[in-house]
Amino acid sequence: MSSLFPTFARYPITLVKGKGSRLWDDQGKEYLDFMTGIAVTSLGHVPERVKNAVAEQLDELWHVSNLFYTPNQEKAAKLLTDNSCADAVFFCNSGAEANEAAIKIARRYHQKVLGNGRYEIVTFTQSFHGRTLATLTATGQDKVKEGFLPLPVGFVHTPLNDIEALKAVITDKTAAIMLELIQAEGGIIEADPQFVRDVRELCDREGILLILDEIQTGMGRTGKLFAYEHYGVEPDIFTLAKGIGSGFPIGAMLAKAPLIPAFNAGSHGSTFSGTPIATAAVIATIETMLIEQAPQRAAESGKLLIDSLRSALGELPNVVDVRGRGLIVGIECTGPVANIVAALQERGLLVITAGPNVLRLLPNLLIAEEEITEAVSILASVLSEQLTAAAN
Ligand SMILES: *Cc1c(COP(=O)(O)O)cnc(C)c1O
Repeated sequence: MSSLFPTFARYPITLVKGKGSRLWDDQGKEYLDFMTGIAVTSLGHVPERVKNAVAEQLDELWHVSNLFYTPNQEKAAKLLTDNSCADAVFFCNSGAEANEAAIKIARRYHQKVLGNGRYEIVTFTQSFHGRTLATLTATGQDKVKEGFLPLPVGFVHTPLNDIEALKAVITDKTAAIMLELIQAEGGIIEADPQFVRDVRELCDREGILLILDEIQTGMGRTGKLFAYEHYGVEPDIFTLAKGIGSGFPIGAMLAKAPLIPAFNAGSHGSTFSGTPIATAAVIATIETMLIEQAPQRAAESGKLLIDSLRSALGELPNVVDVRGRGLIVGIECTGPVANIVAALQERGLLVITAGPNVLRLLPNLLIAEEEITEAVSILASVLSEQLTAAAN
């Protein structure tokens, strides 16, 4: 009997060890990891450089609060701003907190810097932004809201890729539009590039901030360091978490220079924000990504993965679509995929779902060609066996 809240529907597997693309359970069974703890261990398990950086920091200093400067936090922030369109970083401890900070800074910018009292945040149907009260309200899926009423006011949802519908919900109270360039939890659904450019233009015209939730797409996963680089637009604010610490819990809200005065001393905070250990992990993760050219590798491996999946699964009548960008890939099936995930686990391949009918593949960004071939072959045989089983 577990002493934990049953908040997670766990698979019947107890994992005890990981290295690179491989995981082992307590029975000694080996798995090929195509989910990376939900897009977190982007350099694979126990990456050497990150391990050493954290080990060295463990000997020096763990925590002092944000009442002092620490070199790692400054350096991690500088690495992020040097490699993105942002000018300032606020560290926090999770994705939801990063989005919470994005919502807060957007409101505060309008209310305190511009003095216009705007507060409304527009988000999209099927989006996912987190589990705090504000971020679950921002999330465009009813299932995360059940039983948590009343919800905070000031959030509006509209369908993705429909610019006219978006224009129709803009009012003189609209502070920001918050967008995932690829809806991940929602089923690997990409924002149309023209739509993204139209949204940017609309924001510029109406004095609305554009917030991009890059918590899952960020840090190399889509084949660029940040997904917005594919679209030729820059956000005013964006958020990161999953892939930036190789597994150390850390999130970040990043924004451009005009937003900086909105978060002055005392306006926002967090005890654990950017600890020396967590930011050591961030520095080593980003440095490794740059040295190993992880985004470029994700672009190439992603193309190989998607092409191989399309040729191996394209003819199967239970596969509707293979889609994605870089190493965030969805396989949409004709029905629920929970039993397929279980069958894949049996065969030693770990993947997750994105909604009921979509298998989501999130391998590490340094995944080897042979490992892609191995995963595609397991997927092809499990998906065809499922057809045979359904026919009998
Ligand atoms: C995972 C995720 C979040 C929430 O992050 P947590 O660390 O679980 O709070 C928010 N937005 C997106 C797009 C995510 O993928």
